[in-house]
Amino acid sequence: MNASLADTNDATDTAPWAHSFASLGEDFFVPLKPTAVPSPYWVELNEALAESLGLVGLNDPQSGWLQYLAGNAVADGMRPLASVYSGHQFGVWAGQLGDGRAILLGELAGQEVQLKGAGLTPFSRMGDGRAVLRSSIREYLCSEAMHALGIPTSRALCVIGSDLPVRRESMETAAVVTRVAPSFIRFGHFEHFSHNDQHLQLKQLADFVVDRFYPECRSDGRFGGNPYASLLQAVTERTARMVAQWQAVGFCHGVMNTDNMSILGLTIDYGPFQFLDGYDPDHICNHSDHHGRYAFARQPQVAYWNLYCLGQALLPLIDDQALAVKALETFKPVFSAENARRMAAKLGFAAASDTVTALGNAALDLLAAEKVDYTIFWRRLSHWAARRDVADHTVRDLFIDPHGIDAWLLRFSEQVTHTPLAHSADLMLQTNPHFVLRNHLGELAIRAAREKDFSQVAQLQLVLAQPFDDNPALAGYADFPPDWAAGIAISCSS
Ligand code: AMP
Ligand code: MG
Repeated sequence: MNASLADTNDATDTAPWAHSFASLGEDFFVPLKPTAVPSPYWVELNEALAESLGLVGLNDPQSGWLQYLAGNAVADGMRPLASVYSGHQFGVWAGQLGDGRAILLGELAGQEVQLKGAGLTPFSRMGDGRAVLRSSIREYLCSEAMHALGIPTSRALCVIGSDLPVRRESMETAAVVTRVAPSFIRFGHFEHFSHNDQHLQLKQLADFVVDRFYPECRSDGRFGGNPYASLLQAVTERTARMVAQWQAVGFCHGVMNTDNMSILGLTIDYGPFQFLDGYDPDHICNHSDHHGRYAFARQPQVAYWNLYCLGQALLPLIDDQALAVKALETFKPVFSAENARRMAAKLGFAAASDTVTALGNAALDLLAAEKVDYTIFWRRLSHWAARRDVADHTVRDLFIDPHGIDAWLLRFSEQVTHTPLAHSADLMLQTNPHFVLRNHLGELAIRAAREKDFSQVAQLQLVLAQPFDDNPALAGYADFPPDWAAGIAISCSS
């Protein structure tokens, strides 16, 4: 079938691109064309997402989409641009950053479509404007894995490779990943205009975000009609909920700089991320993070710190420090409640209570003491709860010292027995994933892709799209990491 809009027979150049962000004007971006890569090829294409954008037949060679999404051609209707933002990196003001290798093409079906790795922009600073195959596959797989887990995230439409050499720690090859989200506006966009005392632009940006994504902020009685304080509160809540989901599933983002924080509370900018193997609250997944600022257990605190930066940036609009603080203070109760609710669900309880929270914390202490595999523990516990068989030692066998876990399982059983109506092993099975994107799984798919075998990327995406499915044929994807996984070094370099 020729590439066309799903509901018309017209050529792709009639795709109904919209350009809301571009309507902000050129204080916010620089229009520019992507830079071509030699001989692009498909690595992976997300047909379901394409269809939801109203696009079919992208991989038809006649369609031109390989060239469009490689950045080698601009289709009619696209208005490529790179946006300007600033931000705090590793706790320090970094000044102007901007889309150094991301190029926004416009919107389809209300979703921004952005190429990452599409060449130099005025914001590339010392970078080369490129992304490598390795990091592009990781971003693609992780966005789709997070989506399947129900965690707010940007999506990934495709990865396109090229043999163009790209220098990182060693020589690699280039790729372009197409990302999709309702908006890629970051905290750093607000920090940029605030820091430069461009208050008109700051207001324009805030009004844009409120009108498009948070219209309820215009009539929020809690803030006496101050839409910007209400916006800060809404972003605070979304961010708190998102991070609570990260913690529950064992996701470590790795670079929570303010320029990587979405104004919509989406997980964005997948770089050195990792799903925990053994549970270690101090785990640092980013080898460039020498002080552990973004260690797993610090993520909620860092999110709160980042929200303070956003609050500071919005202060000229909020114009009332007490209101800004009031908005930000919602972080702690919202995070605590969401975290408790998510932990309760992991234990099979529909609602949190002090007893259940204490039970969850006791489990985490046991896991941390022996760095027990986080995903496997929760999945085995879910099956254990479903069977309730005294001879079932699958959970106990995860621990070298069985005493603590034996006592804990007894305590858990008593809790379940005392609240039989409220407990559900099914809830556990729908909450605790069987499959997560462990580093070694991504690494194996990447190694094959480097040899031009893209089937493992496709297969892994299918597995991660059904994270709660116990398909025995796929058991290998749910297994412990091999010993070599501990040696995979993931840095900011991507
Ligand atoms: P990140 O740590 O990936 O969020 O990137 C921080 C900033 O550096 C952003 O402004 C990126 O656009 C920019 N950047 C990262 N890698 C590159 C690259 N290879 N070329 C140009 N800019 C880059
Ligand atoms: Mg970034």
